[in-house]
Formats: sequence, C-alpha cells, structure tokens
Amino acid sequence: SENNPDQSAQDRFLAGDADKGESIVQLRGVTKKFGETVVFSDVDLEVGVSEVVVLIGPSGAGKSTLLRCVNGLEEITSGEIVVAGQTLSYDQKHLNRIRSRIGMVFQSFNLFPHMSVTENIAVAQRDVLGRGKDEAIQKAHSLLERVGLSHKADAYPGSLSGGQQQRVAIARALAMDPAVMLFDEPTSALDPELVGEVLAVMKDLAEEGMTMMCVTHEMRFARRVADRVVLIADHGIAEQGPPDQVLDHPVTERAQHFLSELS
Ligand code: ADP
Ligand code: MG
Repeated sequence: SENNPDQSAQDRFLAGDADKGESIVQLRGVTKKFGETVVFSDVDLEVGVSEVVVLIGPSGAGKSTLLRCVNGLEEITSGEIVVAGQTLSYDQKHLNRIRSRIGMVFQSFNLFPHMSVTENIAVAQRDVLGRGKDEAIQKAHSLLERVGLSHKADAYPGSLSGGQQQRVAIARALAMDPAVMLFDEPTSALDPELVGEVLAVMKDLAEEGMTMMCVTHEMRFARRVADRVVLIADHGIAEQGPPDQVLDHPVTERAQHFLSELS
C-alpha cells in the first residue's frame, strides 16, 4: 500500500540505488519441508547488493529449492525471507511485483520456440512492465549486444546452440531490470565447449555489479567470480566463506568430504 514504510526502500533497491553492502536478500530462520520431509531448516543467509554468492552442495541438498523460495516459486514452511526490504508474502500481487524484478535462469532455457530471439526478450517487458513496443525492442537489441548475439536478433531459438539459447535466456531475464539474478545450474545442460561463453556473460554481469545467487558445479567460476561460497548440505548451510577458504581450506568435515568427492 502507499503507506507501507518499506515501500521506499524497495523502490530504491529495484531502481538500483541501494548502496553496495546493504543486504538485498535475507533469509531468517527459514525452514522448508515437503510434507514431512525437511529440505533445510533454520537457514540464515544474507546477500548484499552487488555480492556474488555461489551455492554448492550435493544433489538433493536443496539448492534449487532455496533459490525457488527466494523468488516465491516455493512457499517456505517457517521463517522469513526479505527481498529488497520487503518480507515475501504469498499474495499474488506482491509476488508478481517481487518476481518481476528477480531474474531467474534455469538449466533448461525455456525460450518460446515460436518467437524470434528479439520477441522472446521483448514480450515480458511489454506484458509485465507495460513498456511500449519500440522501447522493448530497443532494450532487447542492446541486451543482445551485451551477450554477444546481435547477429541473432531475428533468429528463432531452434536455430541456436544451447550456449546461445542460454545467453538469450539471460538477456530475457535482464530485460526486466532485475535487482537480483538467480542462476540454477545454468551450464549443466550444455555441451562442454559451450559452457565458457555462458560463464563469460555471467562474469561480465558480476563485474558490472549485479547481485547474483548462482548454483553451479563450475568451481573455476566460483573461484574467480564468487565473493562468497555457500555449501548447502545436511539440511542447511554446512560452511560458507570466501572461495579460497571454502574450496581450498574448508574447516568442516562436511565440506572436506564434499570437495574430495568432486576431484
Ligand atoms: P538440489 O537442487 O540441491 O539438487 P532440490 O532443491 O532439487 O536439491 O531438492 C531438495 C530435496 O527436495 C530433494 O530431496 C527433492 O527430492 C525434494 N523436492 C524438491 N522439489 C520437490 C517437490 N516439489 N515436492 C517434493 N519434494 C521435492
Ligand atoms: Mg538443483
């Protein structure tokens, strides 16, 4: 509502005016169960503006579920999630507003096959943000340039490589001017020779100051780009810290075990 004291804070975040270091995503004592199954319990996690957090952990640990809770695709069982100064509620209007400014990129690209690359990037700008056609197309073109795909503006997704499709998916998410970008194993479905071009786009984004939460198995990316690595295991955060600490000198047995399995 207009009298909501949190509104201006949120607007500032969404407008990209928040200070670096201010936290933009907060999980406070968050528990997620599916039925009686506890995925994670009592998780506290704060992500600061422009921070890049890489989430690692064994399959089934709850990494995807955690990201899906942050953008409200999954409802939490207890605790609180605050995004851009506002507690996530599950009323549809609020959810739509928050979600429209949280970009999410999945393992599968989910582009609309019957729309050109430009149309894929323009459609939600028009339908969700109400931008005019020219503005939406202009924005699509400038984002295509940013991800190195200007020459594919009129192509259809089916004619693109997996790496190109994923770069379009990233451009599509960026078109909404997200305050945070969530990546869930964005390179896991790609042939190995296509992984690098997607990671390069993500690295550029990070360097431009985008706030990012990324689930990935790409440890080289984690080392180079992450400000913080968070190991999700055993129903919560097993260890976290700067990449060199968590990946090279883990202090917990859980992290030592997980990392030894990788190599
Ligand atoms: P990760 O991404 O770390 O591999 P997930 O978040 O996908 O793990 O899954 C965490 C746990 O939650 C797994 O045990 C998975 O089977 C379970 N799970 C995920 N989604 C659902 C769902 N919609 N219904 C029931 N269980 C689910
Ligand atoms: Mg997953």
